[in-house]
Amino acid sequence: MTTRISRITRSLCRTTAISLALAGTLVVLGGAAESASARILAERDVCATDFGASARGGHGADHRDVSASEQKSIDAQTARILRDKTGSATVAPTQFGGSIPVYVHVMRTASGGDDVTDSQIAQQIDVLNATYAGQESSTAANTGFTFSLVGTYRYNNNTWNRDGASAKYRSQTRKGGPNALNIWLVDFSYLGIATFPWDYAKNPSIDGIRVQYSSLPGGSSTNFNLGETATHEAGHWLGLYHTFQGGCTTTNDSVADTPAQGSASSGCPAGRDSCSLPGTDPIHNYMDYSYDSCYTEFTAGQSSRMSSMFTAYRA
Ligand SMILES: [Zn+2]
Repeated sequence: MTTRISRITRSLCRTTAISLALAGTLVVLGGAAESASARILAERDVCATDFGASARGGHGADHRDVSASEQKSIDAQTARILRDKTGSATVAPTQFGGSIPVYVHVMRTASGGDDVTDSQIAQQIDVLNATYAGQESSTAANTGFTFSLVGTYRYNNNTWNRDGASAKYRSQTRKGGPNALNIWLVDFSYLGIATFPWDYAKNPSIDGIRVQYSSLPGGSSTNFNLGETATHEAGHWLGLYHTFQGGCTTTNDSVADTPAQGSASSGCPAGRDSCSLPGTDPIHNYMDYSYDSCYTEFTAGQSSRMSSMFTAYRA
């Protein structure tokens, strides 16, 4: 654990060490309630984005690190599962037409602060549906995913409001099965943190996305208050990496039609080209770190990957 903390701390995920300490305490106090693998997952998924320092991020991924070798192994495993389930290693986006049930957990302060309105939550669901339907650009993919709000739950707890005891509060409040998107709205130093679909089986109780409550439509997060942080985090939850995953490599984000990108974008830098590989940076892609107003699309390749991932791990 010490090694993991210092490695992540060096990558400037400043609050991670605190979260890790909390996670470690939980494991000790929780005794046999959490397995060793669950503990590792709980520790590894907390490295996240400090949006206060530079736009959406730039200080480490808002999901657990996945090395190039693990990336290859995950892709091979997914193809095996899909062949077993469907007879084909990939799934066409049109094959998935279902609606994803959404549970929203509003983690307010003890006195009821940091709340969001039901109207904001409804608008957030609308943003998820519009962005996953490709409605923000003529070149955007219609992923076929739709989102339907099933329940909203409000809690008054200062620790949970700050994302403290995160693994514990998620396991206590999570609703639904692998196909259910749980959104925990908290007040932390990040815009959002997500778990990946291939980790669900190992630790289902923490599966979902944590989102800065002020990033919802009408919230106070300047440049990040159009609700597209949830779109981005749900992209991870459906198996997408950042468009800058792997940097300037041909493997990149395991998606062929997103040009390789050397690092995260900040703001909306038109014409940015951070790699000598073909294509300019996909700054309008929901899986970059651009401003919400700059976000307009998922690609067909990302749409296909999400359908494959959903079919393999969440269907
Ligand atoms: Zn991300």
